[in-house]
Amino acid sequence: MSKPTNISMQEVWQQDRDHYIHPWTDFSTFKETGSMVLADSDNVHVVDGDGNRYLDGIGGLWCVNIGYGREEMAQAIAEQVRQIPYYSCFGHHTTVPAAKLAAKLAELAPGNLNHVFYGCGGSVANDTAVRIIHFYFNQLGQKSKKKIISRIDGYHGSTYMAMSITGVKFDHIGFDIEEQLVHHISCPNPYRRPAGQSLEDFCNEKVQELEDKILELGPAKVAAFFAEPIMGAGGVIVPPEGYHQKILAVCRKYGVLYVSDEVVTAFGRLGHMFASEAEFGIVPDIITCAKGLTSGYLPLGATILSDEIYEVISKPQADGAIFTHGFTYSGHPVSCAAGLKNIEIMEREQLCDQVRDMGAYFEAQLKTLLDLPIVGDVRGRKFMMCIENVADKETKALIDPKARVGNRIADHCQARGLIVRPLAHMNVLSPPLTLTKEHIDFMIATLRESIEATVQELR
Ligand code: PLP
Repeated sequence: MSKPTNISMQEVWQQDRDHYIHPWTDFSTFKETGSMVLADSDNVHVVDGDGNRYLDGIGGLWCVNIGYGREEMAQAIAEQVRQIPYYSCFGHHTTVPAAKLAAKLAELAPGNLNHVFYGCGGSVANDTAVRIIHFYFNQLGQKSKKKIISRIDGYHGSTYMAMSITGVKFDHIGFDIEEQLVHHISCPNPYRRPAGQSLEDFCNEKVQELEDKILELGPAKVAAFFAEPIMGAGGVIVPPEGYHQKILAVCRKYGVLYVSDEVVTAFGRLGHMFASEAEFGIVPDIITCAKGLTSGYLPLGATILSDEIYEVISKPQADGAIFTHGFTYSGHPVSCAAGLKNIEIMEREQLCDQVRDMGAYFEAQLKTLLDLPIVGDVRGRKFMMCIENVADKETKALIDPKARVGNRIADHCQARGLIVRPLAHMNVLSPPLTLTKEHIDFMIATLRESIEATVQELR
């Protein structure tokens, strides 16, 4: 990463380095290198302050699903700003886009998930789910049902509660988390299962672990299980066949609510508006979503509840409680207008069908990289993929973290006009859904060259 050569961008670079506290940043390297300033964009490409163009292989942060530079998104947003840019939805006020988008989400979500609460992103959607679940069980008179079970390597966000539910241990280093309410079970990563174990046995073992954990904590104390259909930030872990269905059955057996965190997987990344039912055959009790809901054009998240949960939380409460949960920007009309336009574009351009076609090609082409000496695993589905780099393909031993292999590959890609995300020793790919065959071919060729260059460096 280098300082822009262009004078006005150099000023931006300096202001940013001196005053902007970046999220998720290693400040030791940040203070040296500052940021790459992104100044322009179009479809699957972004452009830096010096005019260099990059194919954005990560869709911003798994979110720019319809691609950059959509004029009709700009118009829909501007129109809403002109009409009514804000009104509070507390109590009995609403706006047209907030109501229309809620109805649209109810139509798209599986089963009887018909009730939508809005926040500004994925973390808040998950925090909201916890508050609602606690309120729900309180109203049912099951006040001891409070505990949440989630998985090692699951990622659920960065608010205090969402980060506590997150199971990526690296993310907890140096911070505190809530340890009374949240409990983790292990990650269903087929690549790292014990040698010789069948996928079915591995799956059953993970499901049994959930049941054991519920029994250990006491079913009367366990309120909910949180899971992403495919773990994203934990390394794009696709669980073994049947895993989510078996897990849901255990949850049902013990009256534990199943929260499907679809912050990444919803809105087309796996070729469906929601992946829980269409890809994994489950109808959860709650779905949380964000990111692709507006394709990142404006901040918006949603917590979508089943009829049963809504029925309980919306009844007059014996103790006089009302639903005291909400944010100034819940149901922000401009964000909701962006969400409606985004879904309209996705439907009109049949982007889910496009992902199902192109995603199969993308997966197949990425798997050709498995012939490279450090590529141990290529996994994921459709437009949510990951390359795991290892020191030894037989033993799956990791490359020394000091080698920063994921960063090296990402840097080589960037120098060749492709942005991919380093995730420890892995590289993650989550491109805009408008990706064509030519874009995919460029990505694969660039990744191959970059991994080969990295192998040379590590020799
Ligand atoms: N859940 C999942 C699965 C995510 O990947 C993320 C963010 O990457 C979040 C929740 C948190 O979303 P946000 O960063 O919008 O708060």
